[in-house]
Amino acid sequence: MCGLSRDKRETGITANIKRLINMKLKIFILFEFLTFNIICGQTNNQEMMTTINFGGVNCYLVQTDTSFILIDNGFSVKRDLLVKRLEDLGCNPGNLRLIILTHGDHDHTGNSAFLRNKYGAKIAMHADDSVIVEKGDMKWNRKDKPDKISLTFRAILLMSHIFKPSEFERFKPDIYLDENFDLSYYNFDAKVIHIPGHSKGSIGILTGDGSLFCGDFLYNLFGKPDTDFCDNIDDFNASVEKLKRYKINTFYPGHGKSFTMEQFTIFRNRD
Ligand SMILES: [Zn+2]
Repeated sequence: MCGLSRDKRETGITANIKRLINMKLKIFILFEFLTFNIICGQTNNQEMMTTINFGGVNCYLVQTDTSFILIDNGFSVKRDLLVKRLEDLGCNPGNLRLIILTHGDHDHTGNSAFLRNKYGAKIAMHADDSVIVEKGDMKWNRKDKPDKISLTFRAILLMSHIFKPSEFERFKPDIYLDENFDLSYYNFDAKVIHIPGHSKGSIGILTGDGSLFCGDFLYNLFGKPDTDFCDNIDDFNASVEKLKRYKINTFYPGHGKSFTMEQFTIFRNRD
């Protein structure tokens, strides 16, 4: 009898564990779907640029005449996929010259130290976010309470904590980027625009043909650009005003799909 009841109890526990795993799996799949986790590369009009989307984070690989530049690099938990994708695109140790970080958050910087070691690339970012990566503290140089966090952002943050714990390897950047930093030295026809708001050290990379890699300055998760996380709304508004001065055709955000200047103008004028 004892054996039987233990068996029954074990069967019950096993069923519960299976149910839990099943539920976790379903939520995980939903999370992956919601965050557009399509492991793909997409060549845009500029043939030399490829979007790599990992778990909802966009990384952009730019091929210059002689080498590669990677803008942001995702969570460390996606490392193997990133390396595979880079290999597929011909980016290997020795020809990745520069890693540009649009800001310090771990979903954009989680593979930086690894990539520098493996590929020999330099890491470049704005000094106002550098302690975020040096200490591994995303609250550094930010308000105690951010000016805006959307519900979507809260949900994604919660999911990522529960389902995707990701180790962060601290590092010190090699190069500090600031306003108008000219990237032509790296054979990349582009310059840096400082656009604080999401964080103090957020930057955009504006190419000669009007593409702006804007990190988390604006998200575009549901077809309309929006501020899902804004640390400082005054800084953000000043950055929005600043961007009006530039000729920008396409925005390439850190999350979601690219959007046009027209969509940006609709966002800007909506309030
Ligand atoms: Zn992000």
